Amino acid sequence: MSGKTLFSKIIDREIPARIEHEDDHCVVIHDINPQAPVHVLVIPKKPIARVGEAAEADQAVLGHLLLTAAKVAEKLKIADGFRVVINNGRDAGETVPHLHVHVLGGRSLAWPPG
Ligand code: AMP
Repeated sequence: MSGKTLFSKIIDREIPARIEHEDDHCVVIHDINPQAPVHVLVIPKKPIARVGEAAEADQAVLGHLLLTAAKVAEKLKIADGFRVVINNGRDAGETVPHLHVHVLGGRSLAWPPG
């Protein structure tokens, strides 16, 4: 059995996904169960489990994820209002143990989140 995460399998094209962007350090895919008209996931190619387990050495890739989130928001025409979310751990609703940054937009987003 492979120890790969679901998202590593998507990155390696073993599982299909709608890929919006790819570069040396991350991929951006459309969420399979979108919670807004635009809902994409920015995923590092390095399988960091969650932000709480990121290392100092991951600083550049963590920054890259946010910069990519902003670029993709611009590309998908939600730059006027979008939300960036990372669910870290069970109590926050994390379901896939491979870091991913949700980018949501295309509708008005309530605050505080649930
Ligand atoms: P989280 O609950 O923060 O761990 O987010 C995991 C996200 O991955 C959820 O929004 C799921 O809808 C999404 N997801 C799960 N499987 C897939 C898949 N095969 N392709 C795209 N998105 C997925």
